[in-house]
Order: sequence, then structure tokens, then C-alpha cells
Amino acid sequence: MPVTDATEPQQILKEVFGFDSFRGEQETIIESVSAGNDALVLMPTGAGKSLCYQLPAIARQRAGHGITVVVSPLIALMRDQVLALHELGIEAAFLNSTLSPEEFTRTRERMLAGEITLLYAAPERVTNVSFLVDLATLHDAGQLALFAIDEAHCVSQWGHDFRPEYQGLTILHERFPDVPRVALTATADALTRQEIAVNLDLERATQYISSFDRPNIRYAIDEKKNARDQLLKFIKRDHDGEAGIVYCLSRKKVEETARFLSDNGVPALPYHAGLDSSVRQRHQDRFLREDGLVMTATIAFGMGIDKPDVRFVAHLDLPKNIEGYYQETGRAGRDGEPADAWMVYGLQDVVLQRNMLEGGDADERHKQVLRRKLDALLAMCESTQCRRQQLLAYFDQGSEPCGNCDNCLNPPETWDAGREARMLISCIYRCDQNFGSQHIFDVLRGRETDKVHRFNHWNLSTWGIGAEISEQQWRAVLRQLIAIGYVRVDPDHFNVLRLAGDWREFVKSEDPLELRVAVKKERSTRKRAAAVAEGEDPLTPDDELLFEALRTWRKSEADERGVPAYVIFDNKTLRGIARTRPTTIDQLAEVKGVGAAKLETYGAAVLSRVSQAPDADALDGDAAPDPGHPQVHPDEPVDHTSDESSVISS
Ligand code: ADP
Ligand code: ZN
Repeated sequence: MPVTDATEPQQILKEVFGFDSFRGEQETIIESVSAGNDALVLMPTGAGKSLCYQLPAIARQRAGHGITVVVSPLIALMRDQVLALHELGIEAAFLNSTLSPEEFTRTRERMLAGEITLLYAAPERVTNVSFLVDLATLHDAGQLALFAIDEAHCVSQWGHDFRPEYQGLTILHERFPDVPRVALTATADALTRQEIAVNLDLERATQYISSFDRPNIRYAIDEKKNARDQLLKFIKRDHDGEAGIVYCLSRKKVEETARFLSDNGVPALPYHAGLDSSVRQRHQDRFLREDGLVMTATIAFGMGIDKPDVRFVAHLDLPKNIEGYYQETGRAGRDGEPADAWMVYGLQDVVLQRNMLEGGDADERHKQVLRRKLDALLAMCESTQCRRQQLLAYFDQGSEPCGNCDNCLNPPETWDAGREARMLISCIYRCDQNFGSQHIFDVLRGRETDKVHRFNHWNLSTWGIGAEISEQQWRAVLRQLIAIGYVRVDPDHFNVLRLAGDWREFVKSEDPLELRVAVKKERSTRKRAAAVAEGEDPLTPDDELLFEALRTWRKSEADERGVPAYVIFDNKTLRGIARTRPTTIDQLAEVKGVGAAKLETYGAAVLSRVSQAPDADALDGDAAPDPGHPQVHPDEPVDHTSDESSVISS
């Protein structure tokens, strides 16, 4: 199938991208943007945002409108995006500080000569004076087709990814008001949406808000006991040999966790802003290219990471707010296949986040906003209801209980801790709001410690009234009270507990306080073998062998070309090939995810792999290869260092 010059979105979709149909609102958005309208696009990660500007870029270029400039915040990722476009046969390039002066000049020349369809650039580059002169030249010649502003929430100063350079992008609509703009983001609550619209002059643009739901992600939030051991258990049980991201708050903890995982047989690399940029780059490259690496990182890592097969995102510390949580967990399962968002949190996290907020130098109005955002997150953590329902409710989206989160799958038992909560508050009050949590627990439980004697606290009416309640339970009650805001930890005074908010009202009331009963649950949340996306049929054993053979081929091809494996074909496409077993180029072209350019580059190799397909029966006979040394195909070298082999042997 030759690449034509069609400008019809549907035809470009099939010929260039190899997809049969648009997803969700893609078609409406693409039609409108291709026709030259502005748009603000909110789509969850993995839903296919890129297509919403890439396809219009192609359509508009073919219609004679020239180049599309894509503003993207992370220079480290531009190269991969451009590589992926080259694989599709699209002229794309990037301009950033990693280019040599010669490369820079060459790209600029190509841009001015109209040879580039999509040009990626960082916001500071786009707003730089000499670049604006080039844009004006293109504009005067009618060759500036579209501005696409990716990760548009970076423009929000109250958001979690604020980039001051983004606010400079106003110059684009001031200088080139007639050039259409499309802004895209995967995360934005109502307030952030408003800021994007105002700052990017998109108030009159159509807003396309897709469902925020990521049905393939399973959410789970557990009480923190020994966080690292909990993490290790989770990875070994559900994600052995798979790629994942572990978020920690501090650089030190990032490094310690990476070491801990590596020492325990989980290959892991650290990533944080304190590492040398070459180290960061190397770790990121390895994470993108190799299978089955875990990245332990601060939030410096991740924005724009479009590795589709991240199977889990774990939080060892609490994120700042629900947007942050949604954004970070959204990096899991972009390929639509099952993935986990896993978090542990405890009293310390609540205290730390509260104190960081109160101690920060934001003004009171700003703090008010931040407080509301943190409260919403804490409420979600403590809740015994469906996590997804609450997550979506935060983005103003109603939904039913999902059946795919910890609370839906293992409905937690709850108890009414209203009485205990009032005991705790009254004990803090009687101790003059002058003691830390441990002492308060000791008094409640009637323990005769030195401190209790020194301050005569065995005399208090609250001494020993909660002896039958374990310290862990008291801790949970306190955490809840801090989460709600009736108790505050004073960081400037030895972390003493103080009463706050409407605590008096609460004490007088008979309001219940629902708490979860800490239950042991070690049930695996899912079995990893041959996981397929919802709605997809499972592979037969024969197909699975072919699928693994195709993965092995893909890996060697990727290594040779120095590109990430998924850039060649994603897993879903490989499964499609394994299932349909095409024997001709035309049949192969029918498989979802196989476009014209890939057909030309890889078609013959894929057909040859399919024709040599191994079959499962052969493994049962006398000639069965040693299961410890799986043979994908007799004449195919088996790379024992890759995870391909371990997948087959496990
Ligand atoms: P994001 O919204 O996170 O930027 P991407 O644009 O990276 O998502 O798309 C996620 C995945 O979905 C990619 O692998 C992409 O090729 C695929 N995809 C996008 N649109 C379609 C479609 N219409 N049909 C099939 N696959 C699609
Ligand atoms: Zn649920």
C-alpha cells in the first residue's frame, strides 16, 4: 500500500498510522483542528492525544498550510517522539539544546525550506527571539499551519507541574493570532482548566473533555507498615520482571530504595534532579529501552514519559494532591493492558504534607487552594468506598463503583471510631495540647511511663480509658483526625498535637467516624502471564509462542536501530499478528497498528517469522528443549539477558 497524499483524516489514519478507527472524541477533534479551529483537549494518558495534533499536522501540511510546531516541556523525550514519527514515514524534527550547532543549522534550514511536517521544541525555544523571527518568515509565506501545546497544565501556577516558561507562550497568539492552536493535557481539575483557557487565550476554543477513567489501571492504597518490604512483596508477587515506577519524596529515599530493590533481585535505577544530567539521561534511556527495569524516582521523573508498557506505578510517599496522583499513576498502562497504581501511606505522610503546606511561603489565599486539594487526596486515601469513583468525582465526573480497585475487590470492614476519636481529642485537650502522639497514646492506654509520672498524667480523666485499643488502631484514628483537620501537628514545637478546625463541634456531636479495620490481605491482585487488554481474546498456547518469537525478533530489531521496542510494534499489534497469522503483505496490512511505512520496513521480516511459527505441541515431545533454556526458534539466538527468555521459561 503506497503512501498517498490523502488529506482525509480517515484515510491518513489508515495509511500512515495503520489504525482502522478513531477512538472516543479523536475524530471530532481531528476534523475540527484540521479545519483550522482552536481546541483545548483533555484526555487521559494513553487515550491517544498525540494523534489529535499529529494527524491534523499531516492533513494541514498536505493541504499546503506548512509546518506544525509542537511545544513540549521535556527535551529528553523529543528524540523518541521524532523517532516514532520517522518510523511512520513522517518528516519530523526537534530543536533543543542537545543538538550540535551543525545539526541545529541543518534542522533550521529544513524547517524554512518546508521540509518538516512536525517540529518539536521546548517552550523557552519557541519564545526565543530568533525563533520568533523564523516563525514570522514562515507565517508570512502562509507556511505556519498549527501550534500544538502539549502538557498544557504546565501553564497553571497552582498546578503540580508549573513551568514559568509556559506562561511566555502568550506571545504565540499575540504575534500569530490567525494560526490555530490546540492545547492538550491529561490532567486538569476545573481550576486548572480555567487557567489554561485564560493563559493560552483559548476561552473561545471548543473544550473536549474525555472521560478521565483509566479502566485498565487498578487502584490500591494501603496502610504503611514497612514500606520497602511491602513494595518488594508487591513487585515480586504481581510484577516480577516488569517495568514500573516507584515514587518517593526525597532524593535520599530514591537512592536507598533503588539500592534495596537491586539488592533484592529487582533491577532498579534511581532518578532525581540531584543526579548529574548525563546519569539521568542514561537511566532514562535504559528505562525506556530495556524491558523490566524499575525506576525509583522523585516527581522530577515522568512527565511526558511515553513508555507504553509501564506495568505499575508505586507511591512510597503521598503525592501533593489528586491531580498529581492521577498524573503519576497515569504513567502506568498506557498500552491499555492491565496495570497497577499502588500506594502505601501512613501518619507520617499526612503530617509531612500538612506541614510542608503550612510551612511553605505561599500566601494565605494560595494555601487555601492547596489545603482543599490536599484534603481531597486524604479523603480518598482514608475512604472505604470505590477509589475510582472518588478520583473521577474530583474531576467532576460521575461513575459507578468500578470493580477494579482495592475497596471494590476487597470491601474493607469498617468500625465506627466516633467515640474513640472524641476520647483522643479530649486527651489532647487535657494534656494542654503540649505533647506528641506517643505520649497521648500512652495516656489513653494507661501506660506508666516516666513522662506520665513526671506530668502526673495518670491523674487525668482520660488516663487508661482506651486500654483495650491497640496503638496501631489509635494511630489510625489520629491519622484520620489529622486528615480531616481536627488535629494538627506542630512542626515548630517538637511535633506536639494541637486541636484545630471544628473540633469542638465534633466533640459535642454524635457524628460517626468510619475507619477501616486493618485486615491482612495477601491475595494477588492479578496474575501476570499473558495479560491481555479488556475485550481482547486470550492467546492460544500456539499463538503465545508466536507472540514471544515476534517479541524476540522485535528486540533484536530495536537494538539494531537503537530505538525502543514499542516504536516498532506495540504488544497489542504483535498479538494481533500472532492471532491472525498473515501470510501476505495485504493480510498483514489488515492487522491493527500496521501502517504503510511499517509494512514497508518490517513486513517481510514479520511474514517470515510467522511462516516459521513454532508450535506448542513440539514442546511436549522427545525433542522438547530444556525448559530452562527456552528455544524460541531453532535457529534464533536466545538472548538470556533479555526478559524474553524469562517470560517463556516462567
Ligand atoms: P497519550 O494520550 O497518553 O498521549 P498516545 O497518543 O501516546 O496517548 O497514545 C497511546 C497509544 O494509543 C499509542 O500506542 C497510540 O499509537 C495508540 N492509539 C492512539 N490512537 C489510536 C487509534 N485510533 N487506534 C488505535 N490505537 C491508537
Ligand atoms: Zn472501585
